[in-house]
Amino acid sequence: MKISAAVTRAVKSSMTIEQLELKEPRADEILVRLVATGVCHTDIAMRDQAYPVPQPIVLGHEGAGVVEAIGAGVSKVSPGDHVVMTYNSCGHCPCCIDDAATYCHDFFGYNFAGGRPDGSSPISNDDGPIHGNFFGQSSFATHSICHERNIVKVRDDAPLELLGPLACGVQTGAGAIINVLEIGVGATLAVFGTGSVGLSGVMAARLMGATTIIGIDLNDDRLVLAKKLGCTHTINASGENPVERIMEITGTGVDFCFETTGAPAVIRQAMESLTLRGTCGIVGASPIGTEISLDVVHLMTAGRSIRGIVEGESNPDIFIPALIDLYMQGQFPFDKLITFYPFEDINQAIDDSESGKVLKSVVRMNNVE
Ligand SMILES: [Zn+2]
Ligand SMILES: [Zn+2]
Repeated sequence: MKISAAVTRAVKSSMTIEQLELKEPRADEILVRLVATGVCHTDIAMRDQAYPVPQPIVLGHEGAGVVEAIGAGVSKVSPGDHVVMTYNSCGHCPCCIDDAATYCHDFFGYNFAGGRPDGSSPISNDDGPIHGNFFGQSSFATHSICHERNIVKVRDDAPLELLGPLACGVQTGAGAIINVLEIGVGATLAVFGTGSVGLSGVMAARLMGATTIIGIDLNDDRLVLAKKLGCTHTINASGENPVERIMEITGTGVDFCFETTGAPAVIRQAMESLTLRGTCGIVGASPIGTEISLDVVHLMTAGRSIRGIVEGESNPDIFIPALIDLYMQGQFPFDKLITFYPFEDINQAIDDSESGKVLKSVVRMNNVE
């Protein structure tokens, strides 16, 4: 079938919306008509080759839409179901078997290889194949082919156009706080970087009962929103030393840090802000080879720890519907993070996300035939 898709052809370059051919779903695949898709910083990082993702490629990995057709072997969803598409995984490696699919031994192959595990792509133009299957979906398009492992059925009465970011950025932030750091009642937390991932963590920490939530950023507008969404304190790190301020607020440091920037100097500040036995969770998409330096004595003698976290370690089939229920109950207002753009303005959506002008860009497909 003919589709429209935004094709990435070069580093730091605009995507081009092109008419492409999408193959019918295979027996184990699902065809989804996109309603909207979020823009994640990982899309930008892959455009710019933070990992060696092949180009030309259709990126996009926060798709929300409606199932249009299913392969003969698919039983998880049916045509007409409202769905979001999340990260893909193999389903049979030791981590997948242990319900830890965000650490699938072949996470790269299933999400970043630019094609299916057999090397094929469902997308092509007259000149030949275009790389696809990014995060098992390539959702910067009017239609996607995805898989039972990465499709999540969602309730019909939720606003579908909002839901894509739950599949990556929002579940990364909320999952880190709820599933991994397991922040409890009375806990103290510092969130470094109050973008969409950090603020998803702030909302989750509020839900979990944290009583001191400190947001750190360079952008005053974001810090204003951070307070509205649950921060008890904010620090603009361009004018204040965040480590010193956190010590003033807490006395001995925070129980938890949630570091979303991926910048080595900020990770170091987060580690220095921890109280004894404190834990720092890190989720930033740093380029391969990025190194950090830490004071080993500070780390070891006080039982501090640092923990890498992917996709909030969430089981998407359980966690995403739960976040939607909380949203519908008014407990998790992630819609406050979102700015909509028409699909044909995807490059503006990406530029505004990259510059920090908006927190979470979502492109809507309804203006493109
Ligand atoms: Zn696996
Ligand atoms: Zn993402």
